Amino acid sequence: MSTPDLFAVPALQSQPLSQAQQHPDEVRLYTLRGLLHTYSHQYYVLDAPQVPDAEYDRLFQELQAIEASHPGWISADSPTQRIGGKPLAQFASVRHAVPMLSIRTETDTEASGAQNFDTRVRKELGLTESDPPVEYVAELKFDGLAMNLRYEHGVLVQAATRGDGEMGEDVTQNIRTIRQIPLKLPQGVPAVLEVRGEVYMRRDDFEALNERQRQRIAAGEKGEKTFVNPRNAAAGAVRQLDPAIAAQRPLSFFAYGLGQVTPVEQGGPSFGTHFDLLQSLKSWGFPVAALVNIAQGAPELIAYHARIGQLRDQLPFDIDGVVYKVNSLALQQQLGFVTREPRWAVAHKYPAQEQLTTVLGIDVQVGRTGKLTPVAKLAPVFVGGVTVTNATLHNEDEARRKDVRVGDTVVVRRAGDVIPEVVSVLLEKRVGDPPQFTMPRTCPVCGSLAVREEGEADYRCTGGLFCSAQRKQAILHFAQRRAVEVEGLGDKLVDQLVDAGVVNTLPDLYRLGLTALAALDRMADKSAQNLLEALQKSKQTTLPRFLFGLGIRHVGEATAKALARHFGQLDRIMDAAVEQLLEVPDVGPIVAQSIRTFFDQAHNREVVEQLRACGLTWEEGEPAVLAPKPLAGKTFVLTGTFPTLSRDQAKDLLEAAGAKVAGSVSKKTDYVVAGAEAGSKLEKAQALGVVVIDEAAMNALLQGKPEGDPDGSA
Ligand code: NAD
Repeated sequence: MSTPDLFAVPALQSQPLSQAQQHPDEVRLYTLRGLLHTYSHQYYVLDAPQVPDAEYDRLFQELQAIEASHPGWISADSPTQRIGGKPLAQFASVRHAVPMLSIRTETDTEASGAQNFDTRVRKELGLTESDPPVEYVAELKFDGLAMNLRYEHGVLVQAATRGDGEMGEDVTQNIRTIRQIPLKLPQGVPAVLEVRGEVYMRRDDFEALNERQRQRIAAGEKGEKTFVNPRNAAAGAVRQLDPAIAAQRPLSFFAYGLGQVTPVEQGGPSFGTHFDLLQSLKSWGFPVAALVNIAQGAPELIAYHARIGQLRDQLPFDIDGVVYKVNSLALQQQLGFVTREPRWAVAHKYPAQEQLTTVLGIDVQVGRTGKLTPVAKLAPVFVGGVTVTNATLHNEDEARRKDVRVGDTVVVRRAGDVIPEVVSVLLEKRVGDPPQFTMPRTCPVCGSLAVREEGEADYRCTGGLFCSAQRKQAILHFAQRRAVEVEGLGDKLVDQLVDAGVVNTLPDLYRLGLTALAALDRMADKSAQNLLEALQKSKQTTLPRFLFGLGIRHVGEATAKALARHFGQLDRIMDAAVEQLLEVPDVGPIVAQSIRTFFDQAHNREVVEQLRACGLTWEEGEPAVLAPKPLAGKTFVLTGTFPTLSRDQAKDLLEAAGAKVAGSVSKKTDYVVAGAEAGSKLEKAQALGVVVIDEAAMNALLQGKPEGDPDGSA
């Protein structure tokens, strides 16, 4: 996250009282106002918050408490009296026909938050204990940014941010890119209709966006950054000056209220309750969250708060609480507003999803596919409802860009079941000059070389066959149908074998005995016997399957086949220099280097040797260079679609047999192999009198049969 200039903050209007009059709380009052101004500016104007909301809320409440005990100190520019931030000058300003307010927050996350609200409402309405419960609507509090959508005669004419509540920013261009927001409404909607709701980013969209951003950064694209949380990413997208970029940021929308609407006297709609209003929004085509409930009195609000608290992690988007609103619009009117918030609504929060803590150390973990991930070890912190002690730093670039160092104060985020991550560092709290993080060059688990390929963000351990972190993955890959195929050896069994310590590396599979297997939980004699038979059967394999089964990075089935064909024997592949590997069709520098590095790891070679010693065999052949070349000196051109082979496969086969495969037909062409829908090359061949054959005839030539066999030349 970029670090905005901490001093680029609107100057405070109100001045402290003179020194002589100063109350002890007063110093704190001005400190708090200064901090909250800074944080609000970073949050609302720059879309780059530096501290978690929980920290902001804590300071905000402290200020509210001081102001409550000294009402004379309240000034109009106090953060407690203001909404949001000033609109950015880059956007046209919009004056809201109906101000967009904030909502009072009950940060007491326990049941008393709902109880306090209900008590206040009842008091304001003059209700006594004998009066029936007040009816509320309970909704989710989406963590995004508020938007006012103005429709005139059913057409979206303007979308504006909340800004400071009075003046917002015109972001119509960007909002038009959100598919969930209708551009045109069905017939019969009020002539003027302002719909209010929250623009947000789903968690999966946010994770995918950040992953794309990390890839862009790894690929060296300038000016790219990752986002601290979905709210921040959504706010950044909405206030993006280039609508094309905004369109690439996946945003969503929920409607929850109205702004200006054609009055009833002029034919506008009449609603009795907030709930009816939500139903109308739905019928007009706006997304309204499904988890809206009518609640009678405090007990049902408390139950709703608890129920949504349970569901919170599973929701596809962030919420930071729930909102309770008095359902009757007549009662809402009677309750009215205080400075910045309505009296008829309250936000009841949940434990924050971002918190501050300190970094105790940085470890590097190795995933099942060999990916190395730096992980910050944290002083335990309660965040997103659980105590977190580890948080991912994703990769070396991210750790360095965020510049996370041991001892730092950091913002940690945990939302839903996404793994906790360090989102930013509070640089001003750094003590001394701790060393920058560097990624180890060897795998911390097995000591094999760790490599980062060009254009990739991650380091990977190259000791795939040996590394204990990759055991399960290596076995599953080896045993799959397309590799060496050990029938019946799936996820669960591999977990069991590895967790019980019976299998550590691949050769251990072939050393399994009936007794060890039958001792495993839920393993019947028959299943144990079946597995042993499948293992026995798998010993007779082919070189391409074995090679593919080793799980060398970038060596898929096709490459394994090409390598086997080219070199004929495993030892030749294991010993081939990068230049020799590059001679194999379709093997480029990255693949060649990956194969070389893999076999340079002594442990990988040991595992291969042990597998051979366990009896795995395959037929070996002559290397292609030594193999007969029935088509040496012949030039082929391929055109059209062949019945069985792809053009690349045909090309590989022809080249292996010594032929040259050219791109265009000339007098020098010996054969044109034509498949279905052959085009101009076929016509040219016919014009030049070049021999045209089909796939079957080509296969015959490959096997050294003379031209003119059945199915041969056309
Ligand atoms: P708010 O965002 O907490 O509540 C009001 C807003 O709630 C509305 O504007 C609307 O956008 C939203 N909302 C979501 N669901 C709603 C629903 N169902 N019905 C009605 N409204 C709904 O209040 P605020 O005063 O705008 O902002 C305060 C928030 O901003 C706090 O959470 C605070 O922590 C955060 N903040 C953080 C920093 C920081 O530095 N981290 C700085 C300033 C503010």
